[in-house]
Amino acid sequence: MTPIELENRYAAPNYQPLPVTLTGGTGAHLWDVDGRRYIDMMSAYSAASHGHGHPRILGVLAAQASRLAVPSRAYYNDQLGPFLEALCARTGLDVALPMNTGAEAVETAIKAARRWGYRVKQVAPDSAEIIVANGNFHGRTTTIVGFSSEEDYRADFGPFAPGFRSVAFGDLAAMEEAMTPATVAVLVEPIQGEAGIVVPPPGWLAGVRRLCDARGVLLILDEVQSGLGRTGQWFAFEHEAARPDGLILGKALGGGVLPVSALVGRRQLMTVFTPGSHGSTFGGNALAAAVGREALRVIEEEGLVERSRELGTHMLERLHALKGGALKAVRGRGLWAGAEIDPSVASAREVCERLLARGVLSKDTHETVVRLAPPLVIARDDLDWALDQFEAVVRELEGARRRSRAA
Ligand code: PMP
Repeated sequence: MTPIELENRYAAPNYQPLPVTLTGGTGAHLWDVDGRRYIDMMSAYSAASHGHGHPRILGVLAAQASRLAVPSRAYYNDQLGPFLEALCARTGLDVALPMNTGAEAVETAIKAARRWGYRVKQVAPDSAEIIVANGNFHGRTTTIVGFSSEEDYRADFGPFAPGFRSVAFGDLAAMEEAMTPATVAVLVEPIQGEAGIVVPPPGWLAGVRRLCDARGVLLILDEVQSGLGRTGQWFAFEHEAARPDGLILGKALGGGVLPVSALVGRRQLMTVFTPGSHGSTFGGNALAAAVGREALRVIEEEGLVERSRELGTHMLERLHALKGGALKAVRGRGLWAGAEIDPSVASAREVCERLLARGVLSKDTHETVVRLAPPLVIARDDLDWALDQFEAVVRELEGARRRSRAA
């Protein structure tokens, strides 16, 4: 059987991959079993922001793996402290708790916020509420999908944990209205990724920060996808100088090679944890810490944030120029764009299949949005070539529609 047949036979059907079998990757390039080269315009949902097989990250990965990888946190290791120090310095926050996947770091934030609510804010036992936004994506645990507004993520996975209220994303008045004396935190993405790269109105995040301050509520930002340079700033909260009390990071923190995530926060929030109250076998292991620290260094030393800003501006300009026919709308920031396809012309999946045929790997989200988010190391020529292919697909679809109307 081919690898595709094997996966279809033995993998639980919770994904529907595009029909390409990848075998290799370097930078923004990926190769399939037939040796065909593609431009990666997806970056594994920002996990591969450094590009595939970054030489510095591979160097640290190999060296640290042969030295010490997973000693557990029953002991100190020489890598974790320096990694968390770098993370706190970079975020302007005080204390970090390392985990592995994004969802685990979100769960960590929920636990921290609730405990802070009971022990610091003095909310009545078992009554803490967290405000989230419609269209959110924070991961796949049962607690997290319980407050998703997406039926596909939730159907028949209940019963769900109580304690969440959901309001319209970008609506400050709705958020204020939803706050009660039991509200301990607001948990939102500064830009909603899985919802289709949804950028809130200017001033909203700064407004949320002010509202939280006024009401004694924590602001927790999920920057698992938006963080670490993706939007043309180190963190999306910097666009509005709305520093959170808790910041959730993941994906690119693992340099494209490992799952590394963390909750980074203010001391008063993070010190609600006591020995034994939370943990993870793999979280904070020496290998992850070494790779995470190198991932931060590479972003800094290779100027990837500035690159994302400059190339992102260029990408968004080119995309905006294509609007009108098959392309209904373009949203985004930095090297992170959602291109909204007119569903009467084609599905986003069909656009991705046509891009695949032309050597560009992208991914649809929510039937109508094509996500364009290359590794931050992408060469300008490669980006332009990939955008040429996107433009050609848009024109193809518009031509097909004209012909079918004329017929
Ligand atoms: N938060 C956000 C904003 C995400 O985009 C994702 C993943 N797409 C997650 C959390 C979950 O991360 P993971 O898949 O590593 O659990």
